[in-house]
Amino acid sequence: MTVQTFATHLECSETGARYDIDRPQGLSEAGKPLLVRYDLGTLADTVSKADIATSSAPGFWRYASFLPVKEARNRVSLGEVVTPIIPLKSFGRNLTVKDEGRLPTGSFKARGLALAVSRARELGIEHLAMPTNGNAGAALAGYAAQAGLKATVFCPADTPEINIRETAAMGGTVYRVDGLINDCGKYVQQGKESQGWFDTSTLKEPYRIEGKKTMGLELAEQLDWRLPEAIFYPTGGGTGLIGMWKAFHELRELGWLEGPLPKMIAVQASGCAPIVRAWQNGARHAELWQDARTFAAGIRVPAAVGDFLILDAVRESGGWATAIDDDTIMEARDRVARQTGNLLCPEGAATFAAWEEAVGSGQISADAEAVLYNCATGLKYPLPDRAFRAEDSVTD
Ligand SMILES: *Cc1c(COP(=O)(O)O)cnc(C)c1O
Repeated sequence: MTVQTFATHLECSETGARYDIDRPQGLSEAGKPLLVRYDLGTLADTVSKADIATSSAPGFWRYASFLPVKEARNRVSLGEVVTPIIPLKSFGRNLTVKDEGRLPTGSFKARGLALAVSRARELGIEHLAMPTNGNAGAALAGYAAQAGLKATVFCPADTPEINIRETAAMGGTVYRVDGLINDCGKYVQQGKESQGWFDTSTLKEPYRIEGKKTMGLELAEQLDWRLPEAIFYPTGGGTGLIGMWKAFHELRELGWLEGPLPKMIAVQASGCAPIVRAWQNGARHAELWQDARTFAAGIRVPAAVGDFLILDAVRESGGWATAIDDDTIMEARDRVARQTGNLLCPEGAATFAAWEEAVGSGQISADAEAVLYNCATGLKYPLPDRAFRAEDSVTD
């Protein structure tokens, strides 16, 4: 069955050069990410908000007309859900968290990899490979298994053990690498040349952004086609921030959005904050962050190919970039969990700390409508042992 896709071509995010969407593509000739472009005029004439509201497709597949998959049989699904927006009222009257930990494989990487794997299947690609800090590898393995494709991933040796094991459990071939994610990327590059692997690295193929774009479409629909004042996003490779910003522009061009676009706040860890440093220096590109360290593995990305796209979106939105240290992240995670019952992942907790910092410094009001992104389930991360011994409970 053919679905209605309005995707027309791919476009270099730097030069605007056009690329054929019906062939496998990586980076542009300029070495920059490719973006999917749509015939939004025809989409607007054909699809209505009501069509989306009544869609029976699971989770983000309700936005299929904003996505590049051509045939419904090529959609690879593990039962995606629309993720809830949960109020954190005891902290801020209009503060909420969008909990992406409810997605298949326990993180929002499911959105990007569902699209990348679906398009890979559609284009006849058989073997996908990527460097990963953990969650992306697990999502790749899960969706590749469902699609009957092969997945090979390279992780820094100190990647959370649970991510390494879950990836292998879902049939992915996992290698540990002495180094960081950019070192892992070199092995993928070698396998691409010698084994014919398809490189599914963040932003090095065009479809993970489209999957992450659904975070923005979904948020807009959940808020009745308006957007909050601020979005706090834990930024590693930046796919989600770039994808959401793309979603907002597409919706605005369709005339579907009411009110202004949100301020986009890129949150990093103090031990790995290349985007924050570039933001502070007024630079459009970030320099490699040496000796990157943080317990928030998902945002330990020393160099991002899409750095200029992240920085452009942050600036255009009137937002900012900020770094949070690991002690503050852990303290935030514990406090939010104790006080609200939301067990955030460290990266999600970083966005909460960034929100508190922004309220403290007057960058936003405590009552402003703000959305935090909790990118993965907190259960994937080591938790402190705070249990008592039963014997000690007996008092007489
Ligand atoms: C990948 C990841 C991030 C960063 O997301 P990007 O969109 O690639 O910047 C943040 N947190 C977690 C848990 C992740 O897995």
